[in-house]
Amino acid sequence: MIVARTIADARAALGERRDGRIGLVPTMGALHAGHRALLDGARVSCDTVVMSLFVNPAQFGHPADLNGYPRDEARDLRIAEDAGVDIVFAPTAAELYPPGYQTWVDVSELGAVLEGEHRPGHFRAVATVCLQLFSIVRPDVVFFGQKDAQQVEVLRRMITDLHLELELVVVPTVRDVDGLALSSRNVRLSAGERARALALPRALATRDAATARAILDAAGLEIEYVAVAPFTPPTLAAAVRVGSTRLIDNVPIEEES
Ligand code: AMP
Repeated sequence: MIVARTIADARAALGERRDGRIGLVPTMGALHAGHRALLDGARVSCDTVVMSLFVNPAQFGHPADLNGYPRDEARDLRIAEDAGVDIVFAPTAAELYPPGYQTWVDVSELGAVLEGEHRPGHFRAVATVCLQLFSIVRPDVVFFGQKDAQQVEVLRRMITDLHLELELVVVPTVRDVDGLALSSRNVRLSAGERARALALPRALATRDAATARAILDAAGLEIEYVAVAPFTPPTLAAAVRVGSTRLIDNVPIEEES
């Protein structure tokens, strides 16, 4: 497995592999079984699997969230190697945002609602870093998790609007046995908070916004939003705070047959 820290090194590593199908799995590290599902999806369908490992400072609103983001590169590299990743692209922030950097991609409507309303600038930063990664790696296919449903929707729009030649594969949300969606931020939950957080998947499983809100309220979780989002398919999505930890989750609402 090659670990490329610069754009030049990533391009050099990819040079001889361009004939085959290249899959890209963007991550911010602190890998768990959710990331592993994306890597496995890439491994079975691509000749070359590239995983990016970059905690994108621009997409964090609060310095405390960025500074407290769990990081363990050695562990992440072991997991990537075990998953059969060929190339890890792990640039510094200065590599992607050198002095003078000033180009941003704004998916203006989809990026402004729900998560976008509560995290201003978040999707602008996500879309921008993803476009950078797509442009550096030039993958045939990219893999993203349903866990971040609005991110998928924003990126799908960007791919369409900018005529990018790439396929986007959405991997279903991986959950713990108790139903909580795996997230790098779950490590911040105390045992008591984690028990209360279980109201989130329980609420969303009702697939009804009003019922979900009542369940979240009853569990004493601070609701940022709970709503049926106009995604494809329509998706019941919520963001809550459990203590100082912010959690998001969603369930697609299948059409009645
Ligand atoms: P992150 O490292 O949090 O930026 O996530 C990297 C990718 O993994 C994104 O496409 C996420 O949607 C995806 N992901 C995160 N958690 C899960 C999960 N529990 N199940 C499936 N995919 C996930």
